[in-house]
Amino acid sequence: MVNEPRYRSERETVTDTGVDMVAQELTKGTGGNVSARTDDGNVVISPSGVPYDDIDLEERPAVTVNGEQVAGDLSPSSETPMHTTVYAGRADIGGIVHTHSPYTSTFASLREPIPASSYLIAYAGHEVPVAGYAPPGSEELANDALDALGETTNACLLANHGVLAIGDSEKRRSKTPSSSNTVPGSTTRQAPSAIR
Ligand SMILES: [Zn+2]
Repeated sequence: MVNEPRYRSERETVTDTGVDMVAQELTKGTGGNVSARTDDGNVVISPSGVPYDDIDLEERPAVTVNGEQVAGDLSPSSETPMHTTVYAGRADIGGIVHTHSPYTSTFASLREPIPASSYLIAYAGHEVPVAGYAPPGSEELANDALDALGETTNACLLANHGVLAIGDSEKRRSKTPSSSNTVPGSTTRQAPSAIR
């Protein structure tokens, strides 16, 4: 009997979401990153510097919420601290997507929150707030993002950088047929349009 690869479902979801992000021009090349929380509390995350469509299933990395790698040969995203910090601070979520989509990056560079200009913003909260600037990959950025999200907001801009969107678990999403092939963060998929 062939052993089932660990975290198959989450690994497939993370990679498929990355491929989709590129196809929808929400990011380019290896930019952005995606993660999903596993049943045992770890985090499957896209690898650093490898095209989303060029990764074997068992190479895809998984880490603990403390950042220790527990699966996969590839190095986890350089933004892993941001993902693990948000999972640690938001027990209600199961997926995270970060992109450098042009529209949200514009707001992020202007450091302007996206106001409740459309009903779609309601997926994120009352608005999409802006986290303070900190270098990509830093613990400071991770903490700033979690502060901006607070306990209930599901998306925030990262000043001068991009956007972070969070959503509930893959299991809960899979009960909704219309979203069964969507992504971590799918509850914020269209709010704003540049967020998956
Ligand atoms: Zn980034």
